[in-house]
Amino acid sequence: MATVTAKYSIRDYKTDLHNDWCPGCGDFGILNAIQMALANLAIPPHRVVVVSGIGCSGKTPHYINTYGFHTLHGRVMPSVTGIKLANHELTVIGVGGDGDAYGIGAGHFVSGGRRNLDITYVVFNNDVYALTKGQASPTIEKGKKTKSMPEESIMEAINPVALALASGYTFIARGYALDVKHLAGLIASGIQHRGSALIDVLQTCPTYNDLHTKGWYEGQDRGGESRLYKLEETDYDPLVHDPSNPEEVKRKRAQALLKSYEDSDRIPIGVFYRIEVPTYEDYLMRKLPALENKPLVELALEPRDIAPLFEELS
Ligand code: SF4
Ligand code: MG
Repeated sequence: MATVTAKYSIRDYKTDLHNDWCPGCGDFGILNAIQMALANLAIPPHRVVVVSGIGCSGKTPHYINTYGFHTLHGRVMPSVTGIKLANHELTVIGVGGDGDAYGIGAGHFVSGGRRNLDITYVVFNNDVYALTKGQASPTIEKGKKTKSMPEESIMEAINPVALALASGYTFIARGYALDVKHLAGLIASGIQHRGSALIDVLQTCPTYNDLHTKGWYEGQDRGGESRLYKLEETDYDPLVHDPSNPEEVKRKRAQALLKSYEDSDRIPIGVFYRIEVPTYEDYLMRKLPALENKPLVELALEPRDIAPLFEELS
């Protein structure tokens, strides 16, 4: 039997920077899962770009030894898009919080799904704007109040899986920050998927969110019966087997939508929906076949005679 030797270890994706997240924060689990996924896929660090928005999760690229970009609040998707269009050969991963992705960046989140570039978006979903002291974010349930909120939320919550389905994401999953191995598998699958992948991650914030704690997710208040269960351990099948069949596409979307609204006492994690369809890059390559051999950034740097263009325009 052939022996497969991993070319990279998790250490290759770590930096020496001091990490100032609060002790026990779920962000550590997500950071480890991203690094584990990259190491398992053996993607060279210099072929990866991690883009973050603003929030506690915004510091993630500082702690990952790849290229990184810490962009404006809610602008993860435009930055991810620009980088991927300039060099489609790179592995581009967006990271951001629930406020960043589904609140301030909601319009960009929707456009990112419709576009279906080959990118991965990992959202650290802790129900609060943690960096600014725990105000209600778009994912907190109506009527709920964390210790950081003066009153209960009076607005409806966004369902990230449902929003991603409606927007056109072609790989949609939900993970749990403290099940690092499972989450790493989801992130790796999202990276391997050709198209826009969302991994919404249920993330604990022990400093501001006293509702959705490790104990709550893992059912410590009910004899250790976890509120989380894995879709792959059921007969749920997220894959659209025939993407050219509109009836199957609709049926699978409806199935994923129903699953995403499952009762909060029994929360599914895993892959909700997956479909293989042409990406934005595929359409671009039809228009500009030279992109099949070189990324745009290299084509743009090639010397060329632009005199005929001036002649045509004069
Ligand atoms: Fe983590 Fe919450 Fe602390 Fe931010 S405030 S680092 S999300 S525990
Ligand atoms: Mg948040």
